[in-house]
Amino acid sequence: MKEGIHPNYKKTTVTCACGNTFETGSVKDELRVEICSECHPFFTGRQKFIDKGGRVDKFKKKYGIE
Ligand SMILES: [Zn+2]
Repeated sequence: MKEGIHPNYKKTTVTCACGNTFETGSVKDELRVEICSECHPFFTGRQKFIDKGGRVDKFKKKYGIE
């Protein structure tokens, strides 16, 4: 780690609303976020906006929802 370039940049524990914590670099002592890679819909697939590949449609057909 080079010092002097980002004098206040340090390891910070980020706490997500889902309870997940992870470390990142920040100038702050601690960070709180509403969403993280553990609970973000993009990663969990909980929301439809990932449905570009038709996954939800296939799911619906498989289980006779539509
Ligand atoms: Zn989270």
